[in-house]
Amino acid sequence: MNTENTAHQVTRFAPSPTGELHLGHAYSAMVAHHLGNGYVLRIDDIDHTRCRDHFTTGILEDLCWLGLPWTGDPVFQSQRRDAYADALARLQKMELVYPCYLSRKELSAVLSAPHGSTAPHATDMVLPAVEMARRAADGSGAAWRLRTDAALAHTGPLHWFDARTGQMVPVDLSAHGDVVVARRDIGTSYHLSVVIDDALDGVTLVTRGADLADSTHVHRLLQGLLDLPGPAYLHHDLVSGDTGKRLAKRDHATSLASLRAHGMTVDNLVAQMPPLPSFR
Ligand code: GLU
Repeated sequence: MNTENTAHQVTRFAPSPTGELHLGHAYSAMVAHHLGNGYVLRIDDIDHTRCRDHFTTGILEDLCWLGLPWTGDPVFQSQRRDAYADALARLQKMELVYPCYLSRKELSAVLSAPHGSTAPHATDMVLPAVEMARRAADGSGAAWRLRTDAALAHTGPLHWFDARTGQMVPVDLSAHGDVVVARRDIGTSYHLSVVIDDALDGVTLVTRGADLADSTHVHRLLQGLLDLPGPAYLHHDLVSGDTGKRLAKRDHATSLASLRAHGMTVDNLVAQMPPLPSFR
């Protein structure tokens, strides 16, 4: 490993308390701990519709059991709503976001239309202006979407550093279209919150699973727009279960708490993990 690169990196582990941690989360925390020599623990609890306090308690217990101490106090997204609202207000002022009043059903009809694009673009052009005004007036609430093309034109070409390969990767938003930066129910989004958080926490190396690599393009663009520093990114392999399928909370992957209750030791667990990646 190139220890010169990692010695000074600030990493983070950012679980969402929407379920119990499983082996995949343990590996993510191990990677953050290994490459950062400690890590910021951030609880991604912005989605009040799905997050539960008892899962946060379980996360802290699991990390203690794993012997992966975090640095300082844990930080909570739910305490940073003002910072996210400020960032959204800034994007609104730049006229790079627009309100989208489409329901889920209307949006999927737009996306499945013949010759329609697979990612949403300019969804503010779909409803007649009077209908948009009616929905705005009746308090329906809107999601805010980023005008991706205009945003990229505003920043100019951007890249992010892939610490796994040592390469600069050009930002490509074609798969995302006009991404939602503030959901109608929570007033922010995963994308907007994490770029603010990573900047506030001084994160220099974001370590997370390869399933989130696509999001990095959105994050780099938001950093460019909001004048935030661009950390390096390392997307680690995903831990798969016995079936070879990626572990996910929604599939009820075996939780660390239940493995522990059935006698698994940390040594057994570590022995099942892929090797830890290096920073190049
Ligand atoms: N909270 C996210 C999750 O649990 C991870 C966020 C991130 O690493 O950027 O999937």
